[in-house]
Amino acid sequence: MLWDDYINSYWRDWRTGDRSGDRDRLDDPQWLAEWLERHQLPAAAPAKPEELQQLKELRSLLWEEVQQLAQGIAPDQALLDQLNSYMTAGPVIRQIVRKPDQPPELALLPQQSGWGQIMAEIAASFAGAVLEKELSRIRICNNPDCLWVYYDDTRNRSKRYCDDKLCGNLMKVRRFRARRKAGG
Ligand SMILES: [Zn+2]
Repeated sequence: MLWDDYINSYWRDWRTGDRSGDRDRLDDPQWLAEWLERHQLPAAAPAKPEELQQLKELRSLLWEEVQQLAQGIAPDQALLDQLNSYMTAGPVIRQIVRKPDQPPELALLPQQSGWGQIMAEIAASFAGAVLEKELSRIRICNNPDCLWVYYDDTRNRSKRYCDDKLCGNLMKVRRFRARRKAGG
C-alpha cells in the first residue's frame, strides 16, 4: 500500500541496529522518482528543499499516528483535519477507465503533478486505511532495530514481524542465544 510504503522510506539497519546506518531514502532523488513510478503517481519535478521538508513532515505525522494506533489509541479529530488539509491540495476527477484485458473501473484521477498532489494521494491512502481497515492490524515490526510498518492481513492476526524469514528469524536466533547465555 502507498501509506506504509511511504513511512518505510526511512530505512534502519534491521540486522545490527547500528543507527549510523540509517538511510532516509527521501533524500535520494533517484529513489524518489522510481518510487513515484512504482506507485503510478504523477511524476513531479525534483523536490525543492522546502518541499522535501514537507514530505518528511507528512511522513512524521503518519509514523507518529501509526505508533499510537499500534498501542490501541484511536485517531483523533486533529489527525483527520490534518489529512483533510493535505488532501485539499490534490484535486481529483472521477472517470471510468479501461485498461487492456480488464473490466472498466471507476477511478479518481489526480489533476496536478506537483508534490502537493502526491502528498494528497499519500494522505488519502492513509485516511482510507484509518477509516476503512481494521486499526488493530496496523503494526510495527517487533524487531526494535527494524520498526517497519505493515498491515497484518493474516487470518489469525499473528504477524509479528515485517518478514518472518528476515526479522522473525533474526529475533528467534537472538532469543535462543539469550536463553543459552542465561542457562550458562
Ligand atoms: Zn522487520
